[in-house]
This record gives sequence, C-alpha cells and structure tokens, in this order.
Amino acid sequence: MSDYPIQKTDAEWQAVLAEKGAEPSAFAVTRHAHTERPFTGKYEAVWADGSYHCICCGNHLFDAGTKFDAGCGWPSFWKAVPGAITEIVDRSHGMVRTETVCSQCGAHLGHVFEDGPTPTGLRYCMNSAALEHLPE
Ligand SMILES: [Zn+2]
Repeated sequence: MSDYPIQKTDAEWQAVLAEKGAEPSAFAVTRHAHTERPFTGKYEAVWADGSYHCICCGNHLFDAGTKFDAGCGWPSFWKAVPGAITEIVDRSHGMVRTETVCSQCGAHLGHVFEDGPTPTGLRYCMNSAALEHLPE
C-alpha cells in the first residue's frame, strides 16, 4: 500500500471515516480488505442518479448509470471511471481473484469478475461501506 498518492496512518483514516459518518465496517473493509455480508450494505438496492466515490479520499469511481442488479448482494457496476481503480491479483481464501483498490489512496473496494453484462462483460462487485454516493 505504499505507492498511492494519498497516504495516511490507520488512526488518520479512522478519523476521516468517523468525520464522514461512514459505516462502522468502513475501516475494516477499506484498510484491511474485509468483506461486508451480502445484502447488508446501504447501496445494494439504491438506483438513484449520481456518482459513487471512494469513502476514504473522495476519488470518483463509478457513475450510477453503470450500476446493475447482479443479484449477489453487493452493489455492482459494469464500468469504472478510467484510471480510478487499480487491480491486484488476490490469492487469498484458496481462490485467484482480482482485487480492486482505489488508485488514489489504496482503499480496498471489492473484486472485479468477468461475468458482467454488455458492453464490458465486467462485474465490479463492491462493498457499500467503501463507497459514498453523491447525487448529481
Ligand atoms: Zn480512495
């Protein structure tokens, strides 16, 4: 986590998240790659217009128009804002998956899978706790 432009200590991130009123799980999700339980996140069934940003640093990650109902219990998108997300090979839990982190601050966001809808065929499976929705 050393190559990202925005660097803070754990204590500083906890203060940022508390000030933003982030979900209680946000620190564990974004800084320690935890996964929230499916169908528990606040954005799983939100379909409002606007954009989705990194809860830690505000980096614009997704537009609401690319959100779709994947039925998996986590907010899912078929396209990320170009350059907003960095992909990392994740070999934890006996699987090979592609982890997605914020390119600005290294926050863990979720994973990306190649079983999404057209036109990209991608499914960015995100933790609600890592996101902040802003209306247009
Ligand atoms: Zn970020």
